Amino acid sequence: MSALDISVTPNEDPTPDARVAEILADPGFGVSFTDHMVTVEWTPEQGWHDARVTAYGPISLDPATAVLHYAQEIFEGMKAYRHEDGSIWSFRPDANGERLRRSARRLALPELPVEDFLATITALVEVDQRWVPDAAGEKSLYLRPFMFASEAFLGVRPSKHVTFMVIASPAGAYFARGVKPVSIMVSEDYTRAAVGGLGAAKTGGNYASSLAPQSEAIARGFDQVVFLDAIERRYVEELGGMNLYFVHDDGTIVTPELTGTILEGVTRASIIDLAGTLGHKVEERRVTIDEWRDGVTSGRITEVFACGTAAVVTPVGVLSSRAGEVDSSHDGEAGPVTLAIRQALVDLQYGRAEDTFGWMHRLV
Ligand SMILES: *Cc1c(COP(=O)(O)O)cnc(C)c1O
Repeated sequence: MSALDISVTPNEDPTPDARVAEILADPGFGVSFTDHMVTVEWTPEQGWHDARVTAYGPISLDPATAVLHYAQEIFEGMKAYRHEDGSIWSFRPDANGERLRRSARRLALPELPVEDFLATITALVEVDQRWVPDAAGEKSLYLRPFMFASEAFLGVRPSKHVTFMVIASPAGAYFARGVKPVSIMVSEDYTRAAVGGLGAAKTGGNYASSLAPQSEAIARGFDQVVFLDAIERRYVEELGGMNLYFVHDDGTIVTPELTGTILEGVTRASIIDLAGTLGHKVEERRVTIDEWRDGVTSGRITEVFACGTAAVVTPVGVLSSRAGEVDSSHDGEAGPVTLAIRQALVDLQYGRAEDTFGWMHRLV
C-alpha cells in the first residue's frame, strides 16, 4: 500500500483519438507526450506530499531554482508494454524504484519509497492507457520519472524543496529496420565517471559530460563512444547510456564489474540471470580495452553487445581507437547469442514467454 494520496484532475482538453492513433503509428522517441503528468512535492517538514496527476504541460520555475545552477537532479527510464490481451505491464519497476533511491542518496535528495514510486507510475499509466501502443512491433510507452531541486535559492546546500515528476512518451521500435550493429569509438580524451563521483547514479550531469565526446564520435562517423576508467584509462566501463557484454567462443558472457563508476542497468542485471537459463556462464570482471581489441582479432570474443531499456540489446560492430579498428559483427549483422538474449528479454516484456523470474508487474 502506498502512503501517498494521489489526486487525479483529468485533462480537460485531451488529444483527440485520431491524433493519438497517428502518433502511435510512428511514435519515434521522446517527441510526443501523453495528456497527463505526475507531480509530488517534498519539504523537510512535510515529507512527500501534494501528489497529483494533472494535465501535461509546461511548469514555471523561478530563475534561481537550484537545479538550474547546481544540477541536483536524478531520473529513471522504464517502459510500459501492452500484452496481447490488452493488459499493460512494466518490467522490474521495483528495480528502478530502488535505483532512484540509491541515486537520491548520492545527490543528497530525499528518497521516495518504492511503493510510492510504483503508485505514481500506475496512476499515470492508468489515466493515459490509450497512449500505450499495441503489442505488435516492439512499441511501448516510455516512462520518465525524475526528481529535482526546486527551491529558489542560490546557496550551495541540498535543496529544501524537491519535486518528483513522471512524464510518459510513446516510443517506436528502436530498430525499425532490423537489429543492426552500431560502431563505437573509444573516448581517449574524456572519461565519464571517477571513483567516488557520480558514475553509479542516474543523474543528468553524467549525460551532460558525455555530450562532447559523443558529438566527436558522430563527427568522425561512429554511432557511440565507449568510456574507459578514469585512473588507468584501460578498463572498459560503458557507453554513454548503455552497459556492455562480451560473448566468448566458449559461450561465456562477460560484463564489466560494478566498481562504483558504472551505472547498474536493470537490463544488465536481468541478462546476468537470463543468460544462465540460456546455458551461458556469466562473469562480472574487469575487461581492458586491449582484451576487447585482441579478443576480437583472435576470435576469443565472438560478439559484443550493449544493453539498456531503450534499445534492449544492441549489437556492437566496429570498435575504433588510436590503436586501430576491429569489427566483431558477423558480416555486418548481429551475432546469434546477441539476438537470442535480445529475443528472450523482449518475449518476456511483451508477455510472450513465461515470466519464471516474476519480473513483470501489471499496471493496468
Ligand atoms: C540508464 C543507463 C543505463 C541502462 O540502464 P537500464 O536500467 O538497463 O535502462 C546504462 N548506463 C547509463 C549511464 C545509464 O544512465
